[in-house]
Amino acid sequence: MSDPHELKVLNPATEEVVATVPAATAEDVDAAVVAAARAQTRWAALPPADRARLLRRFADTVDGHLEELARLEVREAGHTVGNARWEAGNARDLLLYAAGGAERLLGKQIPVPGGWDITFEEPLGVVGVIAPWNFPMPIAAWGSFPALAAGNAVVLKPAETTPLTALRLAELALEADLPQDLFQVLPGHGHTAGRALVDHPGVAKIVFTGSTRTGREVMERCARLVKPVTLELGGKSPNVVFADADLKAALDPFSFLDNSGQDCCARTRVLVQETVFEEARAFLADALAAVVVGDPADEKTQMGPLISAQQLDRVRSYVPEDAPALRGRAPDGPGFWFPPTVLTGERPDSAAAREEIFGPVAVLLPFTDEQDAIRLANDTPYGLSGSVWTRDIGRALRVSQAVRAGNLSVNSHSSVRYWTPFGGFKQSGLGRELGPDALTAFTETKNVFISTEGTAQ
Ligand code: NDP
Repeated sequence: MSDPHELKVLNPATEEVVATVPAATAEDVDAAVVAAARAQTRWAALPPADRARLLRRFADTVDGHLEELARLEVREAGHTVGNARWEAGNARDLLLYAAGGAERLLGKQIPVPGGWDITFEEPLGVVGVIAPWNFPMPIAAWGSFPALAAGNAVVLKPAETTPLTALRLAELALEADLPQDLFQVLPGHGHTAGRALVDHPGVAKIVFTGSTRTGREVMERCARLVKPVTLELGGKSPNVVFADADLKAALDPFSFLDNSGQDCCARTRVLVQETVFEEARAFLADALAAVVVGDPADEKTQMGPLISAQQLDRVRSYVPEDAPALRGRAPDGPGFWFPPTVLTGERPDSAAAREEIFGPVAVLLPFTDEQDAIRLANDTPYGLSGSVWTRDIGRALRVSQAVRAGNLSVNSHSSVRYWTPFGGFKQSGLGRELGPDALTAFTETKNVFISTEGTAQ
C-alpha cells in the first residue's frame, strides 16, 4: 500500500530510493489551480511575441541542462541514457516549436453580408495535465508546452513513480523567468491529486496519458462538468510484414523492445506473411539473443529494466514459464528485469495477443494475404500506431488506408515527431497532440460579427 503523504522514487535498475517527495493533497491541487488562474490572466494579456520570447528562453535553459535531465530520467525511470538524452532534447525542441505557435495563433476573416466576421483563438484558462511514467519528460512536455504557448496556465500531475524530471522542468521554467505559478508540477497519487485536478471546476481541460481504464474514468468525470479532454491511451500496434519486405529492417526487435516495451506505440503484434514466417522466427531468435540488457546508465546498454515490481508482475502474468517463446537474457538480482520475449504459440484472440502488456513482449502471428493482414491488424480495440513493410507501393498505400490507427509508418518504425500530429483511433484515445495544430487543442474559437451598417453622420 503506497504512502498517502509521500512518494518514494525508486531506481528501477537497483531498487534504491532516489528521492522522497511529498504527495499533493486535494487542498494542494485547489491552491495550485487558484494561483494558476491568477497567473494565466496576466500571461494571456502579454503580447504573443513576449510569450514566445519567454518560452524560447525556457528552451535555452532546458538546453543548458540536457545531460542533468537525461541522467535524472535514467535514475527515476530506468531509461537507457541514449533514450533519455533524446527525451530531454525532445522537450527542448517542442518548447521552441510551440513558442513559434504563440506568434501564429491566427483567427479567420469570413465573408458575410452586412459587416465583417472574424474569429479569435482564445486560451482556455488553466489546463490540467496528467502524465504517466513510461515517458515522463516528453509526455509532460507534449501536454504542457503547447498549452502554455496558447496562453494557458498548466498544473501537471506526473506519475507517482516518476515525478523528478517534471519537478526539475518547473524549476527551469522559473529560472527562465516564466511567471510564478504559470507552470506548476504537483506530484501525487492518481486517486487523490489526479482526481482532484479532473474534478476541479477551475480546470478548463484535462490532458491525460495512461491506461484506457483510467482514461475512461477521467472522461466520465470530465463529462459531469462538460470539460474537454485529450486522451492518449493504450495500444497493441501491428507490424505488418509482407514477404517482399526488407525482413531485417522490418523485424528490428527495438520496434517492440524500445523503452523495455513500455511504449504505447510498441509494435507488439508482429504479423508476418506465412511464406517467410519461419525465416522471421529464426531472425528474431538471433536478434533477441543479441540484445544487451543491463545498467541503463551504461552507454552500451540497449534495454533497461521495467519501471516497478508491479509492472514486472503484470508482464510476467502474460508469459508462463512453459509458454512457447523466443527469449533473450536479462540480469538477475535487484531491479525489475524481464528478458526480451516473442511469444510464438499464441492465437490471435489470446490475452497476450489482444491486451497491452507494456513490457518487452511481442506475439508473432502468421497471415496469408493482404486481406488477412488487414483483418488481423484491425482485430483490436486499439488504434494507435503500426508499421507496414512491403516494396509494393500500391499495397503499402492500400494497407495504410485500411488500417484503423492514428500513426502509421511504411517501411519504417518511426511514429513520433513533435511537428506531426500524434494520437489514436478507437480506444487508443481522443484528440491529437503535437503537430502544426497542437495549440488549437488549447483554445476556444470565438466568432465576432461587426456590422458595417451603422447610420451615416
Ligand atoms: P494509469 O493510467 O493508472 O496512470 C497514468 C496516470 O494517471 C498517472 O499519473 C496516475 O497516477 C494517474 N491516475 C491514476 N488513477 C487516476 C484517477 N482515478 N484519476 C486521475 N488520474 C489518475 O496507468 P498505470 O500506471 O496504472 O499503468 C497501467 C497500464 O496502463 C500499463 O501497464 C500500460 O498498459 C498502460 N499505460 C499506458 C500508457 C500510455 O502511454 N498510453 C502510459 C502508462 C500506462 P499514479 O501514478 O499515482 O497512479
